[in-house]
Amino acid sequence: MTTYLEDELRAHGVNLQKSTKVVALKGENVVTHIVTDKEEVQVDLVILATGVRPNTAFLKDSGIEMLGNGAIVVDNEGKTSIANIYAAGDCATVPHLLKETPAYIPLATSANKLGRIVGENLGGNTMSFEGTLGSSCIKVMDIEAGRTGLSEEEAKRMNLDYKTVYIVDKNQTDYYPGQESIAIKLIYDSATKVILGGQVVGKKDAVQRTNVIAAAIYAKMTTKQLGMLDLCYAPPFARTWDALNVAGNVAK
Ligand SMILES: Cc1cc2nc3c(=O)[nH]c(=O)nc-3n(C[C@H](O)[C@H](O)[C@H](O)COP(=O)(O)OP(=O)(O)OC[C@H]3O[C@@H](n4cnc5c(N)ncnc54)[C@H](O)[C@@H]3O)c2cc1C
Repeated sequence: MTTYLEDELRAHGVNLQKSTKVVALKGENVVTHIVTDKEEVQVDLVILATGVRPNTAFLKDSGIEMLGNGAIVVDNEGKTSIANIYAAGDCATVPHLLKETPAYIPLATSANKLGRIVGENLGGNTMSFEGTLGSSCIKVMDIEAGRTGLSEEEAKRMNLDYKTVYIVDKNQTDYYPGQESIAIKLIYDSATKVILGGQVVGKKDAVQRTNVIAAAIYAKMTTKQLGMLDLCYAPPFARTWDALNVAGNVAK
């Protein structure tokens, strides 16, 4: 699915280099050049995106249970392994709807939900988080992309007996301006056809369709049910069979 995003970047004149290693940043006071294992490039600005790591080193002797990367392990109520200590957000794990083990998915969505739950529980109520699906989305130039649930790689790592379906359809009717291609991938259980994950890429309404897949996973829907799900249709928004209906029906 990322090929669409890479093509979009290149179409906008971005020199995308995926297998290049940055070995040095050069300049006096400000960075003027980056040195890679292939060349030296003059730059105006450098943005380093090196991933996310919980800032929890100060807890290393506390005995609190953490993942290998330092994420504090919490249960569905935000409780840590130490009584009366709760955690939520980028410093902590988040329960996953489809995984037995706590996940590290640092997103504002689950940080906020777990934060509210921790607040409620500290205030004397009992609230529990059912679990994340790792739903997330991005816009790259003019293209939207979203993912939810398990990726194929995750299903493989979990040794699940899964199948995938991949379709390229249209976001709406052709007689209303704005028709664009939309690509959908579903990951589902081979035997039960219950949907486990989905990804959508396209110029219009890809992310909102990802949200529909998230709701379908939450409701343990099958691909067959998605195929007949009563989704909206009017020319500016979909075709009579929405692209998600098509994906559900193509899945065998
Ligand atoms: C560039 C960027 C884009 C993102 N876009 C998205 C997005 O589109 N969607 C999405 O879901 N998520 C997104 N995220 C992730 C999201 O921002 C985080 O998951 C979320 O902010 C985590 O909330 P938090 O409260 O755990 O941590 P933070 O928001 O990081 O808050 C932690 C706070 O604690 C303070 N702090 C740290 N140490 C101390 C200390 N010792 N004493 C006192 N205060 C301290 C920090 O200054 C900070 O204010 C993005 C993150 C980045 C960096």
